[in-house]
Amino acid sequence: PSTYHGRTLAPQGKRSDGSPTTLMYIGGEFVESETTAWIPVRDPATQAVVTWVPESTPSELERAIANAQEAFGPWRRTTLLNRQRILTKLAALIRENHDRLAASIVQEQGKTYIDARGDVERGVQVCEVACNVPTLLMGERVAVSRDMDTYTIKEPLGVVAGICPFNFPAMIPLWMFPVALACGNCMVIKPSEKDPGAAMILAELATQAGVPPGVLNVIHGAVDCVNTLCDDPRIKAISFVGSDRVGKHIWNRGTASGKRVQCNMGAKNHGIVMPDANKEQALNAICGAAFGAAGQRCMALSTAVFVGNTQYWMDELAAKAKKLKIDMGMNEGADLGPLITTAARERAEGLIQKGLDEGATMVLDGRGIQVKDYEKGNFLGPTIIRGVKPYMECYKEEIFAPVLVCLEVDTLDEAIELVNANPYGNGTAIFTQSGAIARKFEQQIDVGQVGINVPIPVPLPMFSFTGSRGSFLGDLHQYGKEGILFFSKAKTVTALWREADAVDSTGGHTNMP
Ligand code: NAD
Repeated sequence: PSTYHGRTLAPQGKRSDGSPTTLMYIGGEFVESETTAWIPVRDPATQAVVTWVPESTPSELERAIANAQEAFGPWRRTTLLNRQRILTKLAALIRENHDRLAASIVQEQGKTYIDARGDVERGVQVCEVACNVPTLLMGERVAVSRDMDTYTIKEPLGVVAGICPFNFPAMIPLWMFPVALACGNCMVIKPSEKDPGAAMILAELATQAGVPPGVLNVIHGAVDCVNTLCDDPRIKAISFVGSDRVGKHIWNRGTASGKRVQCNMGAKNHGIVMPDANKEQALNAICGAAFGAAGQRCMALSTAVFVGNTQYWMDELAAKAKKLKIDMGMNEGADLGPLITTAARERAEGLIQKGLDEGATMVLDGRGIQVKDYEKGNFLGPTIIRGVKPYMECYKEEIFAPVLVCLEVDTLDEAIELVNANPYGNGTAIFTQSGAIARKFEQQIDVGQVGINVPIPVPLPMFSFTGSRGSFLGDLHQYGKEGILFFSKAKTVTALWREADAVDSTGGHTNMP
């Protein structure tokens, strides 16, 4: 394997011209694809091709699913304590390899090194909570009469699939496979073709932790690969995180073939700033949450709603945003790195321009920024536009870039109405010093994850990631108790054990017992 800033990357293959390839992980082995369709992964800070990702061929997808299917019987019979031991070891290995994972994320995804460590941290925490699986899988039992018990058992589903987005290359696979495996399932996972490196390191660590061959498989590609996962009858459930368009497609196609599907999708997260908010705290929070990870978080606080006097906040907000350092992610002190692709940057710039054309006002323009030594990078500096109205494209679309759009309303009621009228329901936050205002907001807001003076309220993994409305399709959310329910099916047993002398001697009855 090659290295990046001194950290060892995932095992790699080689094309005939010597350029590196991303391998697949099938049946416990890293294997080279025989495909002729390769997708380049470019370092977003330099455009240098880091690796070529294969579009796994139909026979390779078949091999991955068949391996998972074969491994399922023995894996489901593995004792809970053994599964716990393997996951505990995996969590420890992830921590030992934290730097490697983070470096791979910087190289392929572009976020800053410290932020990439956070990506790994929030993922490994899910694995650590999944180690509690012996308790999490406990069912219910009640003695319904002297000689009859009813009890539930949570059984694994079989082979399940995970389909991941580019923006959290470690965290999202870790939302999926530790929970799926803990419940006794085998998984075929498809990382984003834009940055599969972290998932490959995770596969390597899973082997070291003792995950048996076939229990976890990693394949690559995009459309065809995803459609195979949706259609194959051996796959019982799909966990997806990504964009609306793809999520809806996977939902329709997966549920049409009878699968259980959960889809976490796009977002437009509003931060409501009340006049009584602590100024420094609110502005720091908004700045970090709007521009961190270059705005490429599904929980980015991309929309600020100022209640009352907006001007009171603007100068200081712009001054704070201006101070952020835009740089290549491995460089010391970088606050935000480049966007994932040139197309993503151009799309964001287009939406900024559209906002201005539709009548919004520029407060801070991050377009055209040049980063020394990284002139080819997909950089966009923090951008703030105000006077934004709900009909504008820059409000309706998820920009997914370091762009904060600011709206102004007169009252809390108007702010709540605005947020509730937006189709998305991933996250929202309110900044206030009033408990009564916070309580009212919490009760009246129709968004699945609410922060009170907390800008990015991603729940810790003992809870679930409860995005709602347009940001989610499904019934059971990722990780936490809902994650356990998603990856298991309930069986309810009613058992009668009666002593011989208590058996009814009057014969069988035909009434409904
Ligand atoms: P994406 O939908 O483009 O890609 C996600 C996955 O779908 C990838 O693995 C990709 O290969 C696959 N895919 C892409 N096009 C496809 C097609 N036509 N048919 C079938 N599969 C296809 O998403 P992305 O750009 O990688 O990620 C960014 C999006 O993900 C944003 O909208 C963001 O809000 C969302 N996201 C949501 C959450 C959440 O929890 N709600 C978390 C992270 C990201």
